[in-house]
Amino acid sequence: MAHSVQVKDRIRGVLTGMAAGDALGAGYEFNAPLPEFAKISMIGGGLGDFAPGEWTDDTSMAIVVAQGLLDSNGKLDGAASNYMVREWAKWATNAPDVGNQTRAVLAHAQHVASADGRAEPTADDALAGSEQIHRRTGRSGGNGSLMRTAPVALAYLSEPPAAAFEAAAAISKLTHFDDEAAEACGLWTVAIHHAVRTGELDIRSGLAMLEPERAQAWEQRIHQAENHRPRDFTNNGWVVEAFQGAWSAIATAEPEDGNARLVPVLEAAVRGGVDTDTVAAIAGSLIGAASGFSSVPAQWVDMVHGWPGMRMQQLVDISSELAG
Ligand SMILES: [Mg+2]
Repeated sequence: MAHSVQVKDRIRGVLTGMAAGDALGAGYEFNAPLPEFAKISMIGGGLGDFAPGEWTDDTSMAIVVAQGLLDSNGKLDGAASNYMVREWAKWATNAPDVGNQTRAVLAHAQHVASADGRAEPTADDALAGSEQIHRRTGRSGGNGSLMRTAPVALAYLSEPPAAAFEAAAAISKLTHFDDEAAEACGLWTVAIHHAVRTGELDIRSGLAMLEPERAQAWEQRIHQAENHRPRDFTNNGWVVEAFQGAWSAIATAEPEDGNARLVPVLEAAVRGGVDTDTVAAIAGSLIGAASGFSSVPAQWVDMVHGWPGMRMQQLVDISSELAG
């Protein structure tokens, strides 16, 4: 499919915006919220002792989603789901910062596979673990599926938004069985899809795909995010407050000179505190979709990198391939 110059720029902005937010937040993870004008920079450090500019689990897991979709012609099928679970499991054996829910599900999946005499876990192994942990603990609504959902919007760019919603929800369930996580992933993915296609930010564009009472619950959450600051959503390890913190950063950050939005949004997300890299990664995927790769500062383009040995240029290439 042929895209205009503007659409191409926005396609390239999704994963690079996400990676920039992730790397920016990495050095501030689990900090308390910071004051409104506190200086934020790519300091590295944090939980995984990251290098300045290095992204964390959010972008790494999203790259696996992207590659799984690419291997299946951009569509979520059994092979793509199996690829994701298999590659996440390999990555998790050495990654310094795997989220609790993801780690538990991947460990369960690996255990089931090994007991069955198989070297590698499948999507069914993960899904069974995801459901079992949800039923046992009542808690599987961490932010770990929302942080990796962005590539789905690019893979489904030429499809109706409802198809993107459905694929995002299904990938969420592989590790996060909670419907809240699936809904958050669906809504965010549809908003990215809409932003890339139109250049407009509309977080409500996916609400019509929910049951009326669920749409109403999310409408209230969105409204709350627009009337508060990211720092008011510090329970952001939970998918709902991660979503609200990210949207609050986008909705409330003041643009810089020349109307540039990406940097102030990412800084605002990081100043919100606690799971700073994840909230900024989520925010970055959507603000990047609206403002494009051209809005990512050159210094960040030079600095940002991470597992599996990639830099911004590879994210640009993957994005263009995903969007066809
Ligand atoms: Mg992270």
